[in-house]
Amino acid sequence: MAKYKLEYIWLDGYEPVANLRSKTQIKEFANFPNLEELPLWGFDGSSTRQAPGGSSDCVLKPVAVFPDTGRENGVLVMCEVMMPDGTPHISNSRASILDDSNAWFGFEQEYFLYQNGRPLGFPEDGFPAPQGLYYTGVGFNAVGDIAREIVEQHLDLCLDAGINHEGINAEVAKGQWEFQIFGKGSKRAADEVWVARYLLVRLCEEFGVDVNFHCKPLGKDLDWNGSGMHANFSTKHLREVGGKDYFEKLMAAFDKYKNEHIAVYGPDNHLRLTGLHETQALDKFSYGLADRGASIRMPHSFVNNGYKGYLEDRRPNSQGDPYKIASRILQTIATVPTA
Ligand code: ADP
Ligand code: MN
Ligand code: MN
Ligand code: MN
Repeated sequence: MAKYKLEYIWLDGYEPVANLRSKTQIKEFANFPNLEELPLWGFDGSSTRQAPGGSSDCVLKPVAVFPDTGRENGVLVMCEVMMPDGTPHISNSRASILDDSNAWFGFEQEYFLYQNGRPLGFPEDGFPAPQGLYYTGVGFNAVGDIAREIVEQHLDLCLDAGINHEGINAEVAKGQWEFQIFGKGSKRAADEVWVARYLLVRLCEEFGVDVNFHCKPLGKDLDWNGSGMHANFSTKHLREVGGKDYFEKLMAAFDKYKNEHIAVYGPDNHLRLTGLHETQALDKFSYGLADRGASIRMPHSFVNNGYKGYLEDRRPNSQGDPYKIASRILQTIATVPTA
């Protein structure tokens, strides 16, 4: 038997963006525990905007488990927040989403590393050199000294956890980075994004660095990119049947529901979706081949294969909740007949 450190992770009740919360309990197991072995647990919801003080118990229900090599015998336990009667708490954005293990999602999470209230590598006063050489840059001048150490350690923590990272890159603004996660099923892909966010934020503690997930931390008037979380998606039908006719009907549905999509694509997106900096304007819907100024981009492979494959919705932002984003995409897809 060994004593495992079980880190129960959940989303709190803050609006419009939930914060990650976590706490540890120790339990003995013969081997690394699986989901079925992990007990329900509770917390004080009055401290997380999830319950009034008079009746503050909320329930943590484990829904996914990952090894945590940042700690000896560490276990990361992603949880849903439940009411004492077993129904989902109102803040529980995962419980009721659409899921389909044949729907595949690739999220490109962009973020800024921040120190002393400004992007990592920005001088105390003024600005560093304008955007140009930071994206996929190499060298101290482009990426500084600690960012890559953070990004590399984060990558290893995620891979050790079994999170399906597909890649990392330095982004367009100084101090801005991206990682990509691919998963089959909306819950699986989104669980992995949340746990990867958790690992990044926790790792940065020891560097005296914060992660700024806001979609336009430097404001909309300066020539610095914002952060997105492009959602690449494909269903079985899109991968195996597709076709131009189906695609055009699908895009008509995305146009019809554009406001419903924007509503769950992260707060303050009007600051980021301006039509500049590789974005389409918030109130417009468009699609295009390899077009980074469109709402939805078709990769060349999609068109070359007869409108089959995956599509990239470029509108979700870096603070968006991947549970809600994936579910909204599936909801719109479900309105379009496949026959
Ligand atoms: P870019 O920066 O050019 O937009 P990335 O390489 O950062 O592209 O991201 C592309 C994403 O597309 C990856 O996260 C990958 O997992 C995802 N992806 C690739 N194929 C599929 C597919 N069939 N279904 C869903 N997502 C996919
Ligand atoms: Mn990318
Ligand atoms: Mn990017
Ligand atoms: Mn992209």
